[in-house]
Amino acid sequence: SDHNLEYPASPDEVDWSVHYPAFAGSGKTPEFADVGCGFGGLLIALAPLYPDTLMLGLEIRVQVSQYVEDRIAALRATSSAPPPQPSADTPGGYQNVSIVRANAMKFLPNYFFKHSLSALFFLFPDPHFKLRKHKARIISPTLLAEYAYVLRPGGIVYTITDVKDLAEWMKAHLSAFPLFETVDAEALRAEGKGPILDAVWASTEEGKKVDRNKGEKWLSCFRRIEPSL
Ligand code: SAM
Repeated sequence: SDHNLEYPASPDEVDWSVHYPAFAGSGKTPEFADVGCGFGGLLIALAPLYPDTLMLGLEIRVQVSQYVEDRIAALRATSSAPPPQPSADTPGGYQNVSIVRANAMKFLPNYFFKHSLSALFFLFPDPHFKLRKHKARIISPTLLAEYAYVLRPGGIVYTITDVKDLAEWMKAHLSAFPLFETVDAEALRAEGKGPILDAVWASTEEGKKVDRNKGEKWLSCFRRIEPSL
């Protein structure tokens, strides 16, 4: 349950320097958001690859979000090594990744300014199998407008699941929404987003569990478009 959580009234009220002290004063805000990040595998994999990009996980479970917070603190404390692609003004060592405990289905626009995200991840979301529970799914017609609001035109929604019915559901809703269009993995690789796709495919704890059980996975990506009037 999320009744006892406190949320910022608007993104103006979020003090990102608490989350990313090494970027304080840079004016940067998160560009990648991992919705229902679980144990944090995706962002931990991506952080060193895009050291200039701020990344935020959102996770509703208290113990899990605490685990990720501790995991990031430990990584920051122990990784003095520079990132693989160091740049003069980039602090290394996981300074660009953080987490909030939040119900992402209700409060995304409280954290992210309009058009501030370039990537939004929904990786192995809870399937909510029963029909009466479909409105609890994280991809739903009403929520798509919010996702389109926080994503900038050109930004990408990445989805992956091991539940075929949910894969079809997400694809049907996202591709029917006027502000999203399906984009295939090869096109994204051609744009240099291969490392992101690889991490989406294989770096999350849930994805690794599916691999161990030799399960199938369905990946679909969607671009936030600006339809011509
Ligand atoms: N993405 C991770 C992965 O691939 O390993 C975790 C997948 S897990 C099956 C789904 C996660 O979404 C759980 O950790 C759950 O607590 C979280 N979650 C479910 N609803 C949420 C919500 N409304 N806001 C934030 N997190 C949510």
